[in-house]
Amino acid sequence: MNQPNNQSLPKITSSWPLVRRVAKTYLKKHLSKLFLILFLMLLSAAATGAMAKMLEPIIDKVFAINNSKYLWSVAAIAFFVFMLRGVATYGHTVMLNSLGQAVVSDMQRDMFGHLIYADVSYFHGQHSGQLMSRFISDTVLIRSAVTESLTGIGKNTFTLIFLIGVMFYQDYKLAFASILVFPAAAIAVARLGKKLRKTSANAQVETGMLAGMLGQAFQGNKHIKSYGTEEFEKRRINVVVDKILKLMNKTYRTSAAATPMAEVLSGVAIVVIIIYGGTQVMAGTTTAGKLFSFIAAFLMAYEPMKRLARLNNVMQMGLAAIERLFRMIDVPPHIQEKPDALTLEAKTPTVSFKDVHFTYVDGTEALKGASFEVPAGKTVALVGESGSGKSTILNLIPRFYDVTSGAISIDGVNIKDFTLKSLRANMAFVSQEVAIFNDTIRENISYGSEGATEEQILQAAKDAVAHEFIQDLPQGYDTLVGENGVKLSGGQRQRISIARAMLKNAPILLLDEATSALDTTSERLVQTALERLQKGRTTIVVAHRLSTIMDADIIYVMSQGKILEQGTHASLIDKGGVYAGLYGSLLKETA
Ligand code: ADP
Repeated sequence: MNQPNNQSLPKITSSWPLVRRVAKTYLKKHLSKLFLILFLMLLSAAATGAMAKMLEPIIDKVFAINNSKYLWSVAAIAFFVFMLRGVATYGHTVMLNSLGQAVVSDMQRDMFGHLIYADVSYFHGQHSGQLMSRFISDTVLIRSAVTESLTGIGKNTFTLIFLIGVMFYQDYKLAFASILVFPAAAIAVARLGKKLRKTSANAQVETGMLAGMLGQAFQGNKHIKSYGTEEFEKRRINVVVDKILKLMNKTYRTSAAATPMAEVLSGVAIVVIIIYGGTQVMAGTTTAGKLFSFIAAFLMAYEPMKRLARLNNVMQMGLAAIERLFRMIDVPPHIQEKPDALTLEAKTPTVSFKDVHFTYVDGTEALKGASFEVPAGKTVALVGESGSGKSTILNLIPRFYDVTSGAISIDGVNIKDFTLKSLRANMAFVSQEVAIFNDTIRENISYGSEGATEEQILQAAKDAVAHEFIQDLPQGYDTLVGENGVKLSGGQRQRISIARAMLKNAPILLLDEATSALDTTSERLVQTALERLQKGRTTIVVAHRLSTIMDADIIYVMSQGKILEQGTHASLIDKGGVYAGLYGSLLKETA
């Protein structure tokens, strides 16, 4: 079972398949808008060509022979041409940017739509900060690549065509000689592109790494403080920041190298034009107006040419980001359901494990042949030293991970035969890590139970011994909690999550009892809430509290991924085995 490794440096693959896929998936649906944009670009480019061409009559007809008859009409045409270019440019700029953003939005939707269904193990492989940087910084690169390349293909190419047209119209021999500069510059620039894409891809990987490390550093702030590792963290971040700085500098140098190359080549061409053209004007074979119009067209062509040359850079950076994106959304989740999967509708189900082996992606063998049964409606406590595989068992039942071998079944049917949705709908997972969302208390309780009535929500809160403290909050059930709202105590958070599970009313309860100590009052409240929640449900609890263990219908004692002993509290004490020893030490702890 090989986990896709998204952290490895991206390989440079051919650009065409990527471009084609972006065009097909994200651009095709905007086809009519795209044509309108190209049309406006064509207008704007034609106006630029007309400006260069107009210099000829202005010089030859208006100034050279002092003909005031032309003065007003040339001025009027010039105004019209500028107006036309202004309006067309405004139109295509706005439309193109909104199209670029629409593409980015679609990509973000696709990424999230994929990631929200990704395997639990996928998220172990990378830090959430790295994934977030895909959404934020990679998409900016993609947007520039999309808009710049469309501007390049459209506006800059059209403008070049019109301006070169003007040059050929004015003096085809000279035009031919001077446009040789363009392909020469283009070849030089294309060479830089490949290098740039690689550097940019590396910089993106490092940026993702930085985001991941920042997230860790901020979340683990307390740990850092208590271990006094601030300077260590600073040094660690500095290494990555330096790496990014170096890579970015390399990108800038490479990307800027295009300009001096083009500049020198154009300088050579201008010298040729001035000397050859000037000689011709003096000899009377051409007019000053024609030469000026030619020079204007050549100079004006410089800007779109430069942009076209730079386009490759922007595209290469965008392609590196697009490649990462596709590589991410092309990984199908490992946990799949069968095409003819059954819908699980359990009442009081029996859950059984038969010779279950499970190895985490990093090779840790967490379960080595666990077999046990959870009878219908009973409570089973899993006890054993830390690392013996108790939590792993809880995680396998909702198929957060799939067993490596062996089988887990509910009422005799392998859980792999059920749809994932129905399987998970039949169980509530109450763990130590209580997820409280940035929302009201009401929404937090009814999370996942769409359509719950006010009455049901209140009942769930009452059963979870949460109603009273909720009523004391400033806005009761409408109080905002989570990061942006009221902070709840550990016990309150747990009771909210118990209320959420009450409301879900699933027949199987997976309970990971908190190890962190609550004060005695909170502890008692949580305990009462949990006892009510367990009633009538098939419950598996990773137990730490003595009372939970003693009250369980069956206790399974785990060690190194296997069930070592099983029985009731009394029978296990009588046996005088591992459990008896464990009980002794728990008693001492509690005392
Ligand atoms: P317990 O709940 O009994 O403390 P766990 O089920 O959490 O034990 O862990 C069983 C073994 O699996 C341990 O060796 C632990 O280090 C390992 N383990 C747990 N979670 C992961 C994970 N996400 N990736 C790799 N190994 C893990």
